[in-house]
Amino acid sequence: MTPVLTVEAVTRSYPGGVTALDLVSLTVRRGELLAIVGPSGSGKSTLLNVMGTLDRPTSGTVRIDGTDVTALSDRRLSELRARQLGFVFQQFHLTDGLSAVENVATGLLYAGVPRRKRRPLAAEALDRVGLAHRLSHRPHELSGGEKQRVAIARALVNGPSLVLADEPTGALDTATGAAVLSLLEGLHQEGATIAVITHDHDIAARLPRRVSMRDGRIVGDES
Ligand code: ADP
Repeated sequence: MTPVLTVEAVTRSYPGGVTALDLVSLTVRRGELLAIVGPSGSGKSTLLNVMGTLDRPTSGTVRIDGTDVTALSDRRLSELRARQLGFVFQQFHLTDGLSAVENVATGLLYAGVPRRKRRPLAAEALDRVGLAHRLSHRPHELSGGEKQRVAIARALVNGPSLVLADEPTGALDTATGAAVLSLLEGLHQEGATIAVITHDHDIAARLPRRVSMRDGRIVGDES
């Protein structure tokens, strides 16, 4: 089966001579749950941006579901992101004026899902993350853990090929973070493919595969 993601010999240099990624190669297969772990400055965010088509590599190729995304226009890339990728951020990135169900429905807007279908699909996704009782709450009426569940529902609502979670427990206390991690484990068991970017080795240790980064390189890949 075609891997969900293939990163081949990717380099990303910044002006001034910083090499943030130095010949990185990584394959993610359907149904995997992996951690990309490394200290601050090791290149994790740069790799996440390249994997998520938010940034283009200086050299090398990135394929998503077999498509070479380095060759696509910005417009095609935003379509591909809306349909094939889901993002979860440390600070949730929810829209304050919108209810939970409306926040999740925005995940379907850019994927071209008709308006009348968005709300029921969003409600179903919130049910999957245990928030069926919070549909009309706004972000300021939710706890940190609940906000992150809404963000996870938004990332998953469109059935993406790959979910990229950037320090998803970084803004949460230990117990809430552990619950969010358990939720991601449950979604992985239901078939979702998820990459968690973290500097936290305890979080990485819980996941079935751990890719370690240092100085812009992959220095370990254990299952
Ligand atoms: P991490 O996410 O692991 O902390 P980053 O990917 O943010 O690592 O950074 C990797 C390296 O690239 C660091 O040395 C960082 O200073 C450098 N870097 C990141 N973004 C930029 C940028 N926009 N301009 C110049 N250097 C950058």
